[in-house]
Amino acid sequence: MVLAENVHKSFGRLEVLRGIDLEVRRGEVMCVVGPSGSGKSTFLRCINHLEKINGGRLWVNGRLMGYRQHGGRLYELRDSQVAAQRRDIGMVFQAFNLFPHMSVLGNVVEAPVRVKREPRAAARETAMELLDKVGLADKAASFPRQLSGGQQQRVAIARALAMRPELMLFDEPTSALDPELVGEVLDVMKDLAREGMTMVVVTHEMGFAREVGDSLVFMDGGVVVESGAPKRVLTDPQHERTRAFLSKVL
Ligand code: ADP
Ligand code: MG
Repeated sequence: MVLAENVHKSFGRLEVLRGIDLEVRRGEVMCVVGPSGSGKSTFLRCINHLEKINGGRLWVNGRLMGYRQHGGRLYELRDSQVAAQRRDIGMVFQAFNLFPHMSVLGNVVEAPVRVKREPRAAARETAMELLDKVGLADKAASFPRQLSGGQQQRVAIARALAMRPELMLFDEPTSALDPELVGEVLDVMKDLAREGMTMVVVTHEMGFAREVGDSLVFMDGGVVVESGAPKRVLTDPQHERTRAFLSKVL
């Protein structure tokens, strides 16, 4: 579902990703951990081409993100074509980014109606099913400011799912939450994983990584230092940098 080959990304002279090689198979959950500034968010943003990579290749579901390959050469896709590629990728951020002036239902209905031109009635029906799935059917008419952080993040997940993504990217989805609200968001993500959604999750929740992750990647300084089965990486890290990081977060 995701294949990264030698992905490089710089901002000016700052080299943030220095050759990332990763693979996520369909239905797998990959958790990504690493110190602040190691390039985790940048890597996620490269996956859905919110950032243009400077080198290497990134495929999502067999499609080269942002480019068309022809006769061994790469041609940049037009914005509309990139937008079409991105439509199959859902993203959930640390800050929930809900539309504050729209109801919960409105937030979930918006993209399918605007972007996919789904009939509003059908989109509402799907949205209600998704809100039910994240345990918020009774909040459909509420506005984001009336919800807790955990509830808002669950709405954000429902909103991403409304586009029927093949891949979900999570960037520290529980980092902005009060501790007692973390569990309800992780539970929704666990359900998603159980249903077979392919997920890349940047998180500091090592319990989640161990329980739900098929793989755990430790990034530092723009490279993958170590990756493998979560249990193995957590209990028997092979690199000093991994050990040092884990000793701080565990
Ligand atoms: P992480 O998510 O692991 O904390 P980031 O991917 O956010 O790391 O950032 C990695 C590095 O890239 C940091 O040094 C950050 O300041 C820098 N960076 C991220 N985005 C930009 C940008 N748009 N312009 C310039 N530098 C950036
Ligand atoms: Mg980040």
